[in-house]
Amino acid sequence: MQKIIIFLGLALFWSCKQQPKETADTTVINAVEEIQKPKNTFGIVIHGGAGTILKKNMTPEKEAAYKAKLEEAIKVGHTILKNGGTSLEAIEKTINILENSPLFNAGKGAVFTAEGTNELDASIMDGSTLNAGAVAGVKTVKNPINLAKEVMINSPHVLLSGSGAELFAKEQGLEIVDPSYFFTESRMKALERVKEKETNKTASFYDPIIKDSKFGTVGCAALDKHGNLAAGTSTGGMTNKKWNRIGDSPIIGAGTYANNATCAVSSTGWGEYFIRGMVAYDISAMMEYKGISLQEASEKVIQDKLKNLGGTGGIVAIDNQGNVAMEFNTAGMYRATMNAAGDLTVGIYKE
Ligand code: ASP
Repeated sequence: MQKIIIFLGLALFWSCKQQPKETADTTVINAVEEIQKPKNTFGIVIHGGAGTILKKNMTPEKEAAYKAKLEEAIKVGHTILKNGGTSLEAIEKTINILENSPLFNAGKGAVFTAEGTNELDASIMDGSTLNAGAVAGVKTVKNPINLAKEVMINSPHVLLSGSGAELFAKEQGLEIVDPSYFFTESRMKALERVKEKETNKTASFYDPIIKDSKFGTVGCAALDKHGNLAAGTSTGGMTNKKWNRIGDSPIIGAGTYANNATCAVSSTGWGEYFIRGMVAYDISAMMEYKGISLQEASEKVIQDKLKNLGGTGGIVAIDNQGNVAMEFNTAGMYRATMNAAGDLTVGIYKE
């Protein structure tokens, strides 16, 4: 009898270990996850900065060059996603193309500080884990978005800055360049223009020439075939910035945010206002708590809340169903998007 009881006990223990506990609750959660994670759809959206970008100030050659680079970059990310790669990989590789171009205020084309140096900021976030990485004020890292990813994956931290971030970059084997790599004639001229205006007091910090001296921050938001969202942003910040100023781009929640439950967002514009408005997180929070769509949430945050604060700029975002938003309250925003069907849209001005 005792043997039978022991045998039954062991059999019961074994069967409990083998069978996953399926309750009504977990069935519902699984079902919701299934709805929230559409398999096999994917999409990607990028920006190359927002500001007073007017057609009358643009030559056809310049316009064509911007459009071609945006198209080249988004196609890199789109191919990764189409082949089943992750949204994080798509973000990094897409942003690398923009960072390596002198056209944008990120990586190679970074704007100059008041001291004539370049200090770069970047961040990335994984919507499936809510893990994030960011760097601020780096001067020798060729692709700051790669370093942000290393911080996320290979360190216990979220945000590293300055010489410590550069040491970490070396330890991770990232490409280090001489600071002169970031020199471009056009950004140096922009610094001289802004300095001249400020010295002669012909423009205050709040004038358009100063506000718009930062064009070209780059960012990307993507949904992969596995239903995972990610976002990333990379910038040189603001022309003539002083005192190791750090903008919104490396601030998780302001410049970048991603959450599989809602959306992935990358911001561009006057960073101080994006930090005060927690713009990227606010869009996600509006969707989560109010149950509104990505488009509604983006409009509310960019056209009402940010504007009321006095902030200018925009965002690109994608939700967990692949819907895209490209919202800005400036005259223009360099942008592009591509969906699972391969439809491509590239834009610069408010159309
Ligand atoms: N948001 C960036 C910053 O303030 C600049 C930009 O997006 O144009 O550093």
